[in-house]
Amino acid sequence: MASVSTPLTFDVKSIRKDFPILNRKVNEKPLVYFDNAATSQTPQQVIDVIVEYYSNYNANIHRGVHALSQEATDAYEQARIKLQKHFNIPNAYQTLFTSGTTHGINIVASGYAEILKEGDEVVVSALEHHSNIVPWQMLCEKTGAVLKVIPMTDNGTLDMDAFEQLLSDKTKLVFVNHVSNALGTVNPIEFIIEKTHAVGGAVLVDGAQAAPHINADVQALDVDFYVVSAHKMCGPTGVGMLYGKEKWLEQLPPYQGGGEMIDQVTFEKTTYAGLPHKFEAGTPNICGGIAFGAALDYMNAIGFENIAAYEHELLEYATEKLKAIDGLRIYGESKEKTAVISFNIEGIHPYDIGTILDKLGVAVRTGHHCAQPIMDFYKIPGTVRASFAFYNTKEEIDVLVAGVERAKNMLS
Ligand SMILES: *Cc1c(COP(=O)(O)O)cnc(C)c1O
Repeated sequence: MASVSTPLTFDVKSIRKDFPILNRKVNEKPLVYFDNAATSQTPQQVIDVIVEYYSNYNANIHRGVHALSQEATDAYEQARIKLQKHFNIPNAYQTLFTSGTTHGINIVASGYAEILKEGDEVVVSALEHHSNIVPWQMLCEKTGAVLKVIPMTDNGTLDMDAFEQLLSDKTKLVFVNHVSNALGTVNPIEFIIEKTHAVGGAVLVDGAQAAPHINADVQALDVDFYVVSAHKMCGPTGVGMLYGKEKWLEQLPPYQGGGEMIDQVTFEKTTYAGLPHKFEAGTPNICGGIAFGAALDYMNAIGFENIAAYEHELLEYATEKLKAIDGLRIYGESKEKTAVISFNIEGIHPYDIGTILDKLGVAVRTGHHCAQPIMDFYKIPGTVRASFAFYNTKEEIDVLVAGVERAKNMLS
């Protein structure tokens, strides 16, 4: 990603006009929103789709013969096809709607409880979000499978030599994020997938943090499962996607029982519906799914290459400016990283810096970022994390840097 340059056509001023929230003030200062890795902001085009749904065709899907139900069903299924095309998924029925990344991971982890046996091994990376650790620990407790961890190195990347040592014919599943939410590291998932397949295992990639920046192609990656959340990529909360290879989705048992996931129900025996309905019990987040499709349309109109190039420029600019502050350390200095900067100032608690920045209208995240093992590795309680999106500007970064300098002067 390092060599791409920002296209001249990237017009951040007009892009910002699409995001009404960017006009608001916080503590009487213009909002500077740098918490994009926690959730992204929503453009008017997506807000309009949500308003349109509830104003005009709110209805339950699939079951109704009436007009509204048909319209809602069509829009929801069209959104599924947008997701399918975007991630280059072979079939719409392998494109499952979920409530988010956490839900997608839990569908797979709970399904594997029926597949794994005592002594099987599963491998996780040291750079994971808690939602890609805890479900697997629960799975190992249930099945007697053994959890192995790919260690990380000081610059915030995974140790690939150690990873290869962990693999064996006992390895059934490897789960790793595409991009670390705490550090921004882009992990070498192509290599991980290739090596895992060579020993007969499957790979689940948590794409929550990659999907807003990198247009992942699940077939080119040959990945077994890929999960994302809409709210990190300009969509609403409470909706996401799980992609799975057909052979795995056929093999995994349903996650929840209920309406929509059945073929025939009698009290003697119930047979399950085919894909994708087997994994979509109950009334889904219909409006959310439709809005997720609209968010993809919005981002694709700008272009993921343009987004990545511009954000990289923001990352380089901010890295240089922050590094110039005496006593400031940046955690995670992988060559391949997205626009996330995790940092601390010597002797100052990250929470205190975050509080002062908030007074200046700057929203950052402080704490362990749901990735406590990374903080333990660095022996710190947490970091200040500034994460950028394509609607942020260099002027906003200047506000952040001035704020960090002020916080440092006040607190040290
Ligand atoms: C945000 C995030 C999650 C959790 O996503 P939810 O939308 O809260 O389910 C998981 N993994 C990574 C890397 C994330 O950034």
